[in-house]
Amino acid sequence: MSGFVYSEKPIRIESGEDAYLYDDSGDEYLDFGASYGVAAVGHCHPEVVEAVRSQVEKLTFVQASYPNSARDGLYDKLAAVAPGDLENVWLCNSGTEANEAAIKFARSATGDSKIVAAQRGFHGRTMGSLAATWKPKYKKPFEPLASDFEFVPYGDRQALEAAVDDETAAVLLEPIQGEGGVNPAPEGYLNAAREVTEETGSALILDEIQTGLGRTGALWACEKRGVVPDVLTSAKGLGGGLPVGATLCADWVAENAGPHGSTFSGGPVVSAAAEATLSVIAEENLPENAAEVGDRLQSKLRGSDAPIRAVRGEGLLLGAEVKRGANRILKELAMNHGILALPAGRTVVRLLPPLTVSEAHADEVVAALESVLAGAET
Ligand SMILES: *Cc1c(COP(=O)(O)O)cnc(C)c1O
Repeated sequence: MSGFVYSEKPIRIESGEDAYLYDDSGDEYLDFGASYGVAAVGHCHPEVVEAVRSQVEKLTFVQASYPNSARDGLYDKLAAVAPGDLENVWLCNSGTEANEAAIKFARSATGDSKIVAAQRGFHGRTMGSLAATWKPKYKKPFEPLASDFEFVPYGDRQALEAAVDDETAAVLLEPIQGEGGVNPAPEGYLNAAREVTEETGSALILDEIQTGLGRTGALWACEKRGVVPDVLTSAKGLGGGLPVGATLCADWVAENAGPHGSTFSGGPVVSAAAEATLSVIAEENLPENAAEVGDRLQSKLRGSDAPIRAVRGEGLLLGAEVKRGANRILKELAMNHGILALPAGRTVVRLLPPLTVSEAHADEVVAALESVLAGAET
């Protein structure tokens, strides 16, 4: 018996609570990667667990063509928290599906096909989203992918303006590139993307699968920049641990979105989990906590004597650029300090913890990282 896609780590995780995971011998790990950002409200949040428990007993599933109060509850909640007027909601099961739908809707609504995306961007691994993903290693073995995708250097306003024309269906960007090394959009970049897409009648799609739901200190990263896209995608932490993705669309996109569908779209159990997750984010002021703890992490890392070349990011999406391989550092953090984090490329240690973490957690992680980096120097 064996899975084959992931190279597995030598720790068996069997339970979790808030920011902690526990292995099969009961050893505790502080999960500063939030399991790819999924545990945004922490592992097994009691409100999410209760919402799932009661919904699974009442109605586990009904197809999306029958209105249902769990699904409607999530539609309403997402529409209420969406930036601007992005009140039209498509529900799916993952980030890549949310982007896949965004690309289809934008092509259908504009009648154009070209998608402009960014170098070092990451949007998922299905054929359409993968075509919008930059890293050649992820794409080469699977070509040909969906066509008519063009890449521009992330953050270069002139290059973006030159690439977007009347045949452009959409510009697809992350407000802060996550997998690509934690690169925040420079000042004015998303505003420029907003302006040029308005001029050409193209859709601006912002992928907030990693940046959304409070992680950067605001519910959506685009709010901090004063930009409302035509389409916004969310997933990862949205279901509080259950698989949910959402594509939020402006009216003009939704009105001509074209035929689309998915059997599991907005099942009652995942909808109940996501609605509870959104409530927890608001009730516990998690965006504010992400801003505060993130600032402390960032200033401690910047002030550190450890060999950290650069610190990038916002809120609780932070990358520390190191000299040596990030994977070796991550392994030592896990095995010697009980702290789990993520890489973002070969030389960036990415901190993406639950939004519930405290300043004490932040201090613990900085101290552990300093200790590991001091050892790596010798
Ligand atoms: C993780 C991620 C995706 C893909 O989400 P999956 O659920 O793994 O398909 C897409 N875009 C961004 C920005 C991500 O961080």
